Amino acid sequence: MPRTTDRLPFPYRSEAGVLAQRLAALQGALDWTAAATQAAPWVRAVRENPPPFWAMESLLKEYPISSAEGLALMRLAEALLRVPDAETAIALTADQLGRADFDGAADSTLARLSSTAIAMSKHFLPQAGSEPGLMVKLGAKSVVAATLRAVQLLGRQFVLGQTIEEGMKEAASARKRQSNLSFSFDMLGEGARTDTDALRYLASYRNAIAAIARTADPKRAPSQNDGISIKLSALHPRYEDAQHERVMRELVPRVWQLCEGAAAANLNLTIDAEEVDRLELSLEVFEALAKLVAQHCPQWQGFGLALQAYQTRAVELIEHVAALGRQYQLKFMCRLVKGAYWDAEIKRAQELGLPAYPVFTQKPHTDVSYLACAQALLNASDAIYPQFATHNAGTIAAILNMAMATGPHAPPLCGSLPPEGAQAGLGRPGAGLPKFELQRLHGMGAVSCRVYAPVGAHRDLLAYLVRRLLENGANSSFVHQLADESVGMDELLLSPLEQSKPGALMSSLPLPPDLYGQARPNSLGLDLAVIAHRQPLLAAHTALVVPSVPEASAADAQAAVAKAVQAFADWNHTPVAERAATLRRAAYAMQLQLPRLCALLVKEAHKGWGDAVSEVREAIDFLRFYANDAERVMAPQTLPGPTGESNTLRMEGRGAWVCISPWNFPLAIFAGQVAAALATGNTVLAKPAEQTPAIALEAVKLLHAAGVPAEALQLLHGPGETVGASLVAQPGIAGVVFTGSTQVAKIIQRALAAKDGPIIPLIAETGGINAMLVDSTALPEQVADAVVQSAFRSAGQRCSALRLLCVHEAIADGVIEMIEGAAKELVAGDPSDLATDLGPVIDAEAFGGITRHVQRLRTDAQPLLDSRLATHAQPHVIAPQMFEVPSIGAVTQEIFGPVLQVVRWGGDPMAVVQQINALGYGLTLGIQTRIDSRALALAGAARVGNVYVNRNMIGAVVGVQPFGGEGLSGTGPKAGGPNYLLRFCAEQTLTINTTAAGGNVALFTG
Ligand SMILES: Cc1cc2nc3c(=O)[nH]c(=O)nc-3n(C[C@H](O)[C@H](O)[C@H](O)COP(=O)(O)OP(=O)(O)OC[C@H]3O[C@@H](n4cnc5c(N)ncnc54)[C@H](O)[C@@H]3O)c2cc1C
Repeated sequence: MPRTTDRLPFPYRSEAGVLAQRLAALQGALDWTAAATQAAPWVRAVRENPPPFWAMESLLKEYPISSAEGLALMRLAEALLRVPDAETAIALTADQLGRADFDGAADSTLARLSSTAIAMSKHFLPQAGSEPGLMVKLGAKSVVAATLRAVQLLGRQFVLGQTIEEGMKEAASARKRQSNLSFSFDMLGEGARTDTDALRYLASYRNAIAAIARTADPKRAPSQNDGISIKLSALHPRYEDAQHERVMRELVPRVWQLCEGAAAANLNLTIDAEEVDRLELSLEVFEALAKLVAQHCPQWQGFGLALQAYQTRAVELIEHVAALGRQYQLKFMCRLVKGAYWDAEIKRAQELGLPAYPVFTQKPHTDVSYLACAQALLNASDAIYPQFATHNAGTIAAILNMAMATGPHAPPLCGSLPPEGAQAGLGRPGAGLPKFELQRLHGMGAVSCRVYAPVGAHRDLLAYLVRRLLENGANSSFVHQLADESVGMDELLLSPLEQSKPGALMSSLPLPPDLYGQARPNSLGLDLAVIAHRQPLLAAHTALVVPSVPEASAADAQAAVAKAVQAFADWNHTPVAERAATLRRAAYAMQLQLPRLCALLVKEAHKGWGDAVSEVREAIDFLRFYANDAERVMAPQTLPGPTGESNTLRMEGRGAWVCISPWNFPLAIFAGQVAAALATGNTVLAKPAEQTPAIALEAVKLLHAAGVPAEALQLLHGPGETVGASLVAQPGIAGVVFTGSTQVAKIIQRALAAKDGPIIPLIAETGGINAMLVDSTALPEQVADAVVQSAFRSAGQRCSALRLLCVHEAIADGVIEMIEGAAKELVAGDPSDLATDLGPVIDAEAFGGITRHVQRLRTDAQPLLDSRLATHAQPHVIAPQMFEVPSIGAVTQEIFGPVLQVVRWGGDPMAVVQQINALGYGLTLGIQTRIDSRALALAGAARVGNVYVNRNMIGAVVGVQPFGGEGLSGTGPKAGGPNYLLRFCAEQTLTINTTAAGGNVALFTG
């Protein structure tokens, strides 16, 4: 169904193009020199009379976040408050402060910790003036206590109170010091993972609105009353575009309850702006609510939302919102911010391989955009009441300057806004209500009028606090520069318009497609939250008929091997550059066919859309990576030796390789194995999994069309027991590369060993009992995300998937509850539906096997999730399963499905890793801890191929996280790594006696 946000511009546009439009729109609208002149005295005043937030600024100046000390400070601020056990709190503090150098720390750990605590508390604790000697004696616990106190004080800098009542009391006393202040209260908390959390946040918003309403005057305009800011991600556990229908059905009524309360008291209720991939959804929720406002309380002018100027389509968003206002005959309050998730947006675009960034990549560009947006807001005054939220004096002065040009305005709601601003012609006092307002965050200076005031318990503060630290610590941040006296006035108030002129700045950030620089293009991905990106996928799915692939017989296999052996010489003698170019052509063709290949993965392998896109990208990356690497590895190397001879090491193919790939990555692993063998000059007999031959056939067709000779790459579809076994048994083959179960790898190994003739190399990548170790410094939300993705994404059918969660006993109850709650929100069913998280497992046999394991666990272990097995009309669907087991040793087999086993641990984490090692597998390990030295030590002790710290443990990227394990998990070398191709090569040294003709010319003439 078309959505109203379809009309919004594409988010991934050329930054230069958009910037040129913004600069053009501002031409003549703004006199920057006048603005800078106006801002200069404010800057001087702040510098001469530092506001309270200076303490943190000067700390950040002393210990920038880019330094070990600054990072330690941020890490402690993020984690220390939530650590429940003293032992771990000491370990964390020692780890972070131990390697930072606060104020010339002394030698012993204790002394260093103590002096550190003093160094920190010096900045925060007014009474901290005691002698270091005294502190040294107090011991580690006291240091932790002092550090904890410092962090709490840091938090208090930004949080008005722990409850709404406390916050309102603080607000009242602030108003005594500065009349005309108003507040927008924000109940801390974001990103609910469970419905219980979402309902808790809903209750706290409701309670806050009721409290604010008690002090508000409904006869006053919303701009004159205090208000509330809400985050939609706090109010629904699946607030994401893929869950569009459910969000509209469930979230809209929740927010409407809040709107009704706010409207009754005539308060301002603002929906905060969050990540870009939620923008369309947020606008649709906003529109649905606007419709309700228009029906039920059209007189209410307090409904609003925040918009981020760092988005390249910010101006169009404003036009969209203004159009909605006109359509529903409402006036919205629109808070303009620059945007708080810049680093996360950049990372997401790079990870997804998007064509461009959705945000500007240069700070002055965001500043220019902010001004262009301000202009657009001022021009839309019939439908929008603008609220400018910034701490940048230059930006504020520029807005005042533009506002004057736009027409007479009453002064903004702000008693202490720089008086020059109000007097400089903004309007005559008493000219009615102000036409816009200025806003700031609590803790950030004393100017401007509406204060965004977070309220909440310490536990909920952390994510917010880190965002503030990051923002204020950034070199480009205005407040950071303001606090740095070495930054002169001219530099501080440089015109962003001048800085953004063509050629003025060079972006050091590569676009996502150029992430790997000259080496190779990054594969292009899609943003499934964008309609224009997912439409081709859905169209391809509708049009696709899965081709049938004829089965080969054992005799066919024999004939194919003979052909491949014969074709070897020609392909091996084809220059490596030519072979590499062929693979690159195939990669290019694959990129063009991405929608069709994704559709095939969904239909044939039951992949979800996100997994399908990642898989096609991985296949493209493999083709390009091995093309490059073959050129590197196969270049002849001159070796040192005695004079009078030349020594060269050369690589070539080994012969005909059998490539046997699994159904769980039927394109990526298939293409990876085949590309590695082909790139190094081998011919290939490719046997795909029986369940997924069609996608393999497509890949083979693409490679043939790109120039791989038909005899150099032959596809043999059929059962492993006949076709696979026959291929492996043929005398002519030169190697086998296999990905699949440990049992089948063993069968292949034995078959190869039993053959006469040469010893055949085998590369086997098999399964694992992959564990994640979580200590009590970990962030439960991050753990829940990582666990749910690692254990249940792709219905748990990844070699790398999480099977065994080991969680510290001090936090186990809460973490398990959160994971259960998040897992309950997952949707199992038809994989072609974008809303589906878990499709069916691959076939009836897999379903039967997993079901039997689940039945066994129901008696042997403690069931955690109350989910039944196949609850869906779709066959072979298994809802997420979780069981608590008594010990790590109780887990003996890999269950290749969405089944997670959980164990609690206490004591030494190293002992946990040793027990994991003892399972004998060695593929992936997740570690969740904020103690960096612990993460490194655990990774060092783990006998596994891939370790992931503080993230999920799936989705290895070619060339970035080469993939493969040890022990029962495989032979190595790692796929997508720099050592993989070597195993496919035969090595030859060529030694030429250059003195054979009679003398050593080189020595005489050299
Ligand atoms: C009242 C209030 C409410 C807020 N509500 C929200 C909200 O709902 N959603 C939200 O996202 N933020 C919100 N914020 C936070 C806001 O986005 C940041 O505080 C703001 O970006 C800081 O901007 P500044 O003008 O004060 O500082 P400046 O120092 O002038 O600007 C810093 C900003 O520039 C941008 N930036 C930094 N580096 C780059 C770069 N290399 N390329 C491009 N841009 C860059 C970032 O947006 C950064 O935050 C709110 C802020 C206030 C004051």
